Amino acid sequence: MITIKKPEEIEILKEGGRRLGIVLRKVSEIVKPGISTQELEDLARKLIEDGGDTASFLNYKPRGAKRPFPAAICVSINNEIVHGIPNERPRIIQEGDIVSLDLGITHKGIITDSAVSVGVGKMAPIDQKLIDHCREALALGIKAARGGNHIGDIGYAIESFARPLGYGLSEGLAGHGVGYKVHEDPFVPNEGEIGRGELLRPGMVLALEPMLTLGTDKIVLDKDGYTYKTADGTNAAHWEHSIVITEGEPIILTK
Ligand code: MG
Ligand code: MG
Repeated sequence: MITIKKPEEIEILKEGGRRLGIVLRKVSEIVKPGISTQELEDLARKLIEDGGDTASFLNYKPRGAKRPFPAAICVSINNEIVHGIPNERPRIIQEGDIVSLDLGITHKGIITDSAVSVGVGKMAPIDQKLIDHCREALALGIKAARGGNHIGDIGYAIESFARPLGYGLSEGLAGHGVGYKVHEDPFVPNEGEIGRGELLRPGMVLALEPMLTLGTDKIVLDKDGYTYKTADGTNAAHWEHSIVITEGEPIILTK
């Protein structure tokens, strides 16, 4: 069921999103060669707790998962697309890595969700372009997310930008509604047709999240039960914002 958030809830979402944006920026600022993924987890957790909020992903059990997610933040490196676990078998970040950070914060009971991909030090040009193009794909998806448009318009905006550049689009992974729960209806695919799918109505809160790869659309799930990787081992990038649909331009909650 697609929910419409009330004006007072949108105010809470705005504050939660602002806080999430700050935490994500601070964590991304310490992503350097030699730092461990455990340190990223520790900082994210501390900053969220200091703000009096909760980490929405910690102990969250998505449908179909065998166990709850063990961390506050997802850290996915290079060929890992999303849901990398930072605090089991912690890894050391290397020069040239693509590090995707994905975080959810529950502020006054309501959730926002956002992700960034960070290039570490000197990057291979192809990887830097992947990061930049993924960010641009998100911006185009957001631009298409206006009241009166449809879910398919968002996917079309992302796909019609990413495909001609040769990127893969991580089959089966998509954006979603967010707010009362980490994942709500509707499913927001990164591919679509203009005018198809659910009508976008003011007050809908969506997490848009293109996940671009340098190769295949195919994904594989690691034996840890969470980390999705590209099936061909090529690198991936991930950008995400939570937005509120309005009559015009959407409100970006997690800037
Ligand atoms: Mg996310
Ligand atoms: Mg999400």
